[in-house]
This record gives sequence, C-alpha cells and structure tokens, in this order.
Amino acid sequence: MSPYWSAAVHGLTPYTPGEQPKLANLVKLNTNENPYGPSPRVLEALQGEIGETLRLYPDPDALRLKQAIAGFHRIDVKQVFVGNGSDEVLAHVFLALLKHPRPVLFPDISYSFYPVYCALYGIDYLTVPLTEAFEIEVDDYRTDNGGIVLPNPNAPTGCLLPLPEIERLLAANSASVVVIDEAYVDFGGESAIGLIDRHPNLLVVQTLSKSRSLAGLRVGFAVGQAALIEALDRVKNSFNSYPLDHLAIAGAVAAFEDRDYFERTRQAVIDSRESLVRSLDRLGFQVLPSKANFVFARHPAMDGEELALALRGRGILVRHFKLPRIEQFLRITVGTDLQCGLLLAALGEILHP
Ligand code: PMP
Repeated sequence: MSPYWSAAVHGLTPYTPGEQPKLANLVKLNTNENPYGPSPRVLEALQGEIGETLRLYPDPDALRLKQAIAGFHRIDVKQVFVGNGSDEVLAHVFLALLKHPRPVLFPDISYSFYPVYCALYGIDYLTVPLTEAFEIEVDDYRTDNGGIVLPNPNAPTGCLLPLPEIERLLAANSASVVVIDEAYVDFGGESAIGLIDRHPNLLVVQTLSKSRSLAGLRVGFAVGQAALIEALDRVKNSFNSYPLDHLAIAGAVAAFEDRDYFERTRQAVIDSRESLVRSLDRLGFQVLPSKANFVFARHPAMDGEELALALRGRGILVRHFKLPRIEQFLRITVGTDLQCGLLLAALGEILHP
C-alpha cells in the first residue's frame, strides 16, 4: 500500500493465475496448457519474422491474422477482433459490451477472471448457480440483465452446454449481449460461431493458447456481427494500438494454416482425456463429464487441498480452488500419456500407501 496509489487500485483484488514454477522437471498439469509444442510451421514463421523489420510497428489491425481466422471459420474479416490473449479480448468485451446499468450474469462456478474485470471497470454482476450436477441451466438466466458471459465448455468444470441450449439463451436474451468464451471448445465442443449471422447479440471468444498450443504467444480473438466488433475496436484503439506484435501475428497465421497439426494434436489430447477419465474412475474419483483439455474430479476419501499438496510433494502440479462448492475438486490438465501415467501412479501411492 502506498499514498501514491489511486482509489481504484486500493479497491482491486487481481486475478491469481496458476503457478508458473521456476523448477524444471515438474509434471505441470495446473494451467491447461497443451502438452504438445506449437506446430513446426509456427516455429518456422516466428524465425522468419526475426529481423530488421522489427524496428517497424506491426499492423495495428493485424489484418493478415483476421483474414486467416475469417478464412478458417468461413466468416467476414469485419466479424473478427484480435487481441493479446483472450484475457485482453475479454477485458475489452466487459468495457465495450457488458458495462450497463443492469448487472451482467455469469455462473457461480466459472472463470474467476470475470468478477475481476467487473471490479476493474465498475460493472455490477450477479452469479447464477450451476445445478447440483454442476451444469448450466439456461432458464436460470431469464432475469433482467446487462449481458451474459459463460465459458463453453465451462471452466473449471469442463461441462459442455449443447448448441441448441445456447440458441435458447440467445433467443431469451435478445436485448443484451451474450458472450460465449470458447477457450476449450476445440476439445469436444461445437463452436457457436456458426450462429453469429442469425444473432446480432452473440459474441464468441476463442484463444490460441489451448488447442493451438500458443499460450506463450498471447493471441485471442472474438467473432460477432460487425457492430459488436466495432465496439471492441473503439476500446482497443483507446487503449493500445498494437496489442499483437510482428511475432504474434506471423505465428498465429501459421497456426491457422497448419490444419493437419491442429487436428492431430487436439485429437491426441481428447484420446488422452478419455483414457485419464477411465483411470481416475477406477481409482474411485468422481469425474465431471469433460469436453475440455482438463478434468474436474474429487475423491470421496481424501480432501481436495490435501490431495493437491501431496501431488505437489511428488512433483506434480494440479489446480485446486479454495472456493465454495468446489473445494473438494482438483482441476487436472490433460497431459501427454506419459504425464497422465505419472499422475495416476502418484495418486495410487497417495490413496493406497
Ligand atoms: N477463458 C477461459 C475460460 C480460460 O480458462 C482462460 C485461460 N486461463 C482464458 C479465457 C484466457 O486465456 P488466454 O488469455 O491465454 O487466451
């Protein structure tokens, strides 16, 4: 604390990201990173970008990248917004489209950055409880609101809301923007991007951090009708003209071009997830049905926090949230089969010493 701080800073409780350990050789299953490296074509594109042209500012509109995204998703370039990771995109979304007199709604168990953005921008919010089965019930979102945001699949549960339910949510809330945060959609969900032409209130947010293995490059994007994108551009151009640098643009374009690598690696993660779920089941865990690159699981015989600490003692990091309703759960990122094997062996030792 310092007398130099603004009143706004005194009131902030920042988001705490998962630990990025300085130690090598840990089995890192705590921040939903992709266990496979980025496509070799991405690495090549990044190398090609290192040179004299770095003295120039990048394209403030990142048009090449918007074209690559528009081509991949068969939409118009004017329907694409890009930013420095989807966290930055989401921050702009809260200010540009969700700051209204009525409160924004999101699930009680959800991405814990949402309330942080609300506090940063002075946005009122209400949380809507997930059902007993940790699912989203769209009929619970019928209260008057200034916008709705939800991850699909949800985080940290991994549960997927089927597309027809999202359509129902959109139809019942045509007066406010509905933001679907699809950070994990490529691991088994169906994107709502196909719905944007029919729903002017729909904004879909995605990231290259998970299914394209580029968490370190910081690229995210939003897709929606041009009027929504224009609002985001206004905020972005009042904040930072160049959120994506030369490397981020070149690497992200190459990631969209290498469709084959994307398909192979995401399928590998899906296959490992299914086998991990079966093994956790055999160890007695209750595992929520996941369509993400992580699973959310609890063991009836051992406290969640204790289990996370015991794993840490064996060099394995998973995420534990000390929050109501979910403090007995662990969120475990799907690693390679080797990493999953190490996790399962450690769990076996801890549970049956
Ligand atoms: N949305 C959700 C639901 C997430 O879990 C994350 C990752 N923490 C993000 C958005 C942000 O990802 P990034 O900023 O790396 O794109």
